Order: sequence, then structure tokens, then C-alpha cells
Amino acid sequence: MILRPLGRAFRPRSIADGACFMLIAVFVPITYIFQVTVIMPELHNVGSFWYTVIWLAGLFLVFNLTSNMLACMLVDTSIKMVILKPPLEAHLLSRWHMCDMCQTLVPPRAWHCEVCNVCVLKRDHHCRFTCCCIGHHNYRYFFYYLLYMCIGACYVSINASIYLWYLHADYYWRPYTLITIFVPALSLTVHASWENFYVVIYELNLLAFGMSTLLLIYHLPMFKRGAVMKERQSTKYDLGLRANCEMVLGKRMHWTWLSPFVRSDLPHDGVNWLPGPKKD
Ligand SMILES: [Zn+2]
Ligand SMILES: [Zn+2]
Repeated sequence: MILRPLGRAFRPRSIADGACFMLIAVFVPITYIFQVTVIMPELHNVGSFWYTVIWLAGLFLVFNLTSNMLACMLVDTSIKMVILKPPLEAHLLSRWHMCDMCQTLVPPRAWHCEVCNVCVLKRDHHCRFTCCCIGHHNYRYFFYYLLYMCIGACYVSINASIYLWYLHADYYWRPYTLITIFVPALSLTVHASWENFYVVIYELNLLAFGMSTLLLIYHLPMFKRGAVMKERQSTKYDLGLRANCEMVLGKRMHWTWLSPFVRSDLPHDGVNWLPGPKKD
């Protein structure tokens, strides 16, 4: 695994990338503090068994969400991380193509990203929230980032719903809450209060849950088929479910959910791709 220099990894390549990254970087810690200090003490006795279990589970979620996000940004998955040696055999070389932007021959499944301005090995897509391309070497981290975002946002949305609409229904069941939901910036400017701020965090959680769920639903079928976005209709590289999962999560895939620090080497170099048995 080759890491990108910190300066390059954390430098947004566009304004949209920077804005999306900042939204997550601010939103995740604020949500965690909101959950632990405001919601949980109203649902469980502080220091009780369930309070401790949920508090630890929350820490695990936040740790995995942020560390997988950072790993995704740090791991270099571009063609710059390998010394490209086009094969000598004509039938293999014919699978490589010329990238006019990089001015080099690039292997099958490597595609150029206009934002990163480099070709990326087994490129899936450019992710705004991590300011980098998702490809062969960082797909694992992207997948867990998405999964833990979905679980975390779902959990907080349920708890926050109980807090707002049941425990504090007398305050929040009013037209002004709707205004805060539809125009949060205006509402916070006109009437800055903790209560309005909680509604905005709640709304962001619902959005995070909705978006991460949709993205998971979109990516999972491709993940199962061993395909990337450019090949989403294809089964060209489908090696069967287990091998496809291993191709993304590595040889110790059953342990990778624990942390991005769990070493799990990928079975492929990301360069010399050959079609699987299920050719289109
Ligand atoms: Zn290129
Ligand atoms: Zn990119």
C-alpha cells in the first residue's frame, strides 16, 4: 500500500470537493457530541449498562467512519503508485489503451479522472466527500466509510426523532420547526437557538442516511459482480461473490470491518486484468 503525501491528500481539487469534505468534517463530530451530550442522557441513565454500551458503539462508529474516510484519501490508487510495464504479448497489450492526458499507455480498467488529472487503477468514480478517486487500492475504505455513515446516520436519526417528536413534542410540533427544516440558514440567522440547531443536525442526519443508503443500494450490485461504474452493466470481471468481495476487501476480508488498520492484502495488483469466466 502506498500513501500519498499529506499535502496532496488533503488539498481539495475543486471548490465542490472542499465544501463536501468540510461538511462531513464538521458534521460528524457535532453529531456525535449532540448524540452523547443531549440525546443519550434523556434516553438512558448516565453510567448505566446500556448508556456505556451505546456510548462505546458510537465511538466505534465514529472511529471507523473517520479513519476509513482518511484512509480512502491517503491511499494512492493512481497509476503513479506503480511502475507500469506494458506486457510484451500482443493479446495482452491490446487490452491497454493510451491516455492522451497522461501521455502514457494505461492498463485495462484504469481511467482518467478530470478532477484528479491522473489515471486511476480500476477507477470507480471521483468521490466529492473524500476529495479523491475511488479505485483498486482504496475501494475497501470507501465501502466501510459509506456503510458506517449509513448505520450511524440511521441510528442518530431514530434517536433524534424520539427526542424531537416524542420527548419534546410540545416544543417541536409547531410551524417554525418546518421553516427551520426548509430554510435552515435563514432560521438560524433570524432565531439562533440550540433548539433550532438540533433540528438542523437532525435534518443533516436524515440527509446523510438517505444519501448513504442510496449510494449503498447503487454500489452493492456492482460490488457483488466485481464491476466498477464504467462496467456496471457488465459481468466481464465477475469471479463469483466470494472472490469479488476478496478483490475489494482483501484476503482477510472477514476482519476488515473492525478497522482500516487491519491489514488485508489485495489478491490483485490492479494492473494486469484478465476477463473472468463469465464473459459478456
Ligand atoms: Zn490519464
Ligand atoms: Zn478523481
